[in-house]
Amino acid sequence: MNAAPQAVPSKPDFITALRRELHHYPEPAWMEYRTTCRVVELLTALGIPVRYGSAIHSRPHMYGLPSPAADEAALERARQEGCDGALLAAMAGGYTGCVATIDGAHPGRTLAVRVDLDCNTLPESLDADRLPVREGFASCHDGFMHACGHDGHTAIGLALAAQLWDHRQELHGQVRIIFQPAEEGLGGGTSMVEAGVLDGVDILLGSHISMGLAPVGTVAAGTHGFLASTKMDVLIHGRGAHAGVCPEEGRNALAAAAAAVTNLLAISRSGQGASRINVGSLVSKAGRNVIPPEAALSLETRGATDEINRYMEDAALRVIDAAAQMYGCTVEHRIMGRGDCTDSTPELAERVMEILRRIPGVKEILPSFNFRASEDITTMMRRVQTQGGQATELIFGAEIAAPHHSERFDFDEAVLPLAVRVLTELALSLN
Ligand SMILES: [Zn+2]
Repeated sequence: MNAAPQAVPSKPDFITALRRELHHYPEPAWMEYRTTCRVVELLTALGIPVRYGSAIHSRPHMYGLPSPAADEAALERARQEGCDGALLAAMAGGYTGCVATIDGAHPGRTLAVRVDLDCNTLPESLDADRLPVREGFASCHDGFMHACGHDGHTAIGLALAAQLWDHRQELHGQVRIIFQPAEEGLGGGTSMVEAGVLDGVDILLGSHISMGLAPVGTVAAGTHGFLASTKMDVLIHGRGAHAGVCPEEGRNALAAAAAAVTNLLAISRSGQGASRINVGSLVSKAGRNVIPPEAALSLETRGATDEINRYMEDAALRVIDAAAQMYGCTVEHRIMGRGDCTDSTPELAERVMEILRRIPGVKEILPSFNFRASEDITTMMRRVQTQGGQATELIFGAEIAAPHHSERFDFDEAVLPLAVRVLTELALSLN
């Protein structure tokens, strides 16, 4: 594969080089073929056992999969970028991501660390003053960009695996490093949970770069304020007809969709806590003299608790059904992603804080960070907590050039070696 140096994945130079390489080849949800191949190859070269393909996913829970044509195009691009054919064949159909397993020399519990792999759907800014442009690692995949730091997360996960492999004589129990696809849109977490990837895990550590926390050296031991969320695609079926000759024979799907949108936005908000709803797109295409036979909506609901989100989701479905009925249309809806509402386990965040205090480079420690958005690490945290384990999401502070999910996003790469040092220390100390 045409790529960065193969040597010593735990060294800072390598971590930065790998992050830049991953940034150059961003891949969106369920299409992280090149990214996964690269991770699997590097893990395998080190001798670390790694699982991938259909064994780590549950097909009915792979929310928001791309069309077969988009999947084939992504595979073909990865092939052209030098990925191994057999590896790609094992992942075809969206089975991206992988799980590395490191068994320590001493008995102990099972600890999992989760990192995410996917990019965002937006074109990267090519302004000459940006580091990725100056250093030549801006996205070469048109319309796609790592604008949330998941390129950094993947590099951290790999360097962490290399470190723990080197230290396996000191390690207690087992460490699983979960490279999760499809975080954006909340598609990948549930699939891996339902496939049993978290079974038997006693301690789960997630982490995210920045989210507005800065500078490098500031670390939050836990997270609260995740919003539960449901992502949904809706298709309204009507009947096409000549708009001049026989409009009464048509069933106007566009009118139904428009009525749905205004009433979705008018759903009464919950008095029990924060609630949100947004419709991001309404697409209906027919000639101006045709009664539109079809319309598509993409929308999401959010809530401060699972119950509040469920209330918003139920109300949304009721409104859409009623709007369709009003115009004699029918509705199909598809859940494209789901995230739960879970806070870090306080006892674990407390222990993480104690360990953080003795790590060089950690300058300021926050007990908990208010996330105010959705992340499907919560699905994994929920699973571990309900099976009696503990889970937390750390936030690694870093200066950012522009907000997450914007075309000028970039982060201070000094966070990468620090995050690896912290997660290595936690994995060695918590078990
Ligand atoms: Zn993110």
